[in-house]
Amino acid sequence: MSHKILAKDKLDAFLQGLCRDQDLFAPVMKDGKVGWAPVTTAAEALWEFSNSELSPKDFFFPQTECMMRFKNVQGDPQGMIMQAEPALNKPRVLLNIRPCDAKAFQVLDMIFVQDEMTNDLYWRDKREKTTLIGLACNDPCPTCFCTTVGSNPHGTTGLDVLLTDIGDKLVAESFTAKGEALLKELPEVTRQDLFQAGELKKAAEAKITSGVAVDKINAATVMELYDAPLWDRVMESCLNCGTCTFCCPTCHCFDIQDETQGEAGRRVRNWDYCMSWLFTMHGTGHNPRGTKKDRVRQRFMHKFKYIPVKRGGEIGCVGCGRCVQLCPVNIDVRKVVNDMNA
Ligand code: SF4
Ligand code: SF4
Repeated sequence: MSHKILAKDKLDAFLQGLCRDQDLFAPVMKDGKVGWAPVTTAAEALWEFSNSELSPKDFFFPQTECMMRFKNVQGDPQGMIMQAEPALNKPRVLLNIRPCDAKAFQVLDMIFVQDEMTNDLYWRDKREKTTLIGLACNDPCPTCFCTTVGSNPHGTTGLDVLLTDIGDKLVAESFTAKGEALLKELPEVTRQDLFQAGELKKAAEAKITSGVAVDKINAATVMELYDAPLWDRVMESCLNCGTCTFCCPTCHCFDIQDETQGEAGRRVRNWDYCMSWLFTMHGTGHNPRGTKKDRVRQRFMHKFKYIPVKRGGEIGCVGCGRCVQLCPVNIDVRKVVNDMNA
């Protein structure tokens, strides 16, 4: 919608404006790793980093989230009193989020908010109250492959504002009314600034040299992929440890449990993972994904076949490369998907 300039020596004043009536979070260095934390000044936030080790999906889909509380009240005609958890009490801003992570939230929007029946109020409330200010990736990692799964190191999908670091200043581009309002006091960009941002975008895209091909996956039937021999090989090395699902910005399996003490309790939902044998275990003892091969296959089929089939071709992976970096036995999603495609 508009292009403005944010000089780096004006960043603190800009952030103070953001913090006035909102909580502000940004990537910071924690114990030698990039994580997310509240910030109030530019110096606290990271401005040059690969990406956070864990994705920021936790802001919308916490690892453990209380959904409601309940209590049996003796003698009360209602019997049990159920109390909703309070909604987020303050709007917030995620600063310097990477474009791939913002794109992942749009993928998850399609899962959590589908129609009247599948309309997750916990997810929706936090999404509606959060502004996303992205920071373009000028220097993608060798494990990034966003350009081959519909994203870009300077991608704008899902963002309110994208910042591009061009040296002593940032080009700030807004895409929503929320973003427009944040930038309204800033000066306009010059043609030279825009040109520089465009050159950085081209250079960043050129640094992404690996990727996945999905054309034949799209053309194949589910059963052709399901029965492909490659799963025996992938299954052999996978530990089913779940690291890849835990760090992934689009993985969203969860389990709901009631935790009770005496007459009261709370209902919580916790991250779960399709690599776990227990995740699909039925109360009857039957497990439809009872073997390791079933579970390994599920993760890749879900992201690269089932989600595209059900969600208009959208891929359930944004190419952030986290699982490539963190898998303890070096299973590389790019290799698996290219083998599926072959
Ligand atoms: S991180 Fe690697 S070993 Fe662990 S479940 Fe994922 S693919 Fe398997
Ligand atoms: S599958 Fe791997 S590369 Fe794709 S979004 Fe998840 S963590 Fe990132």
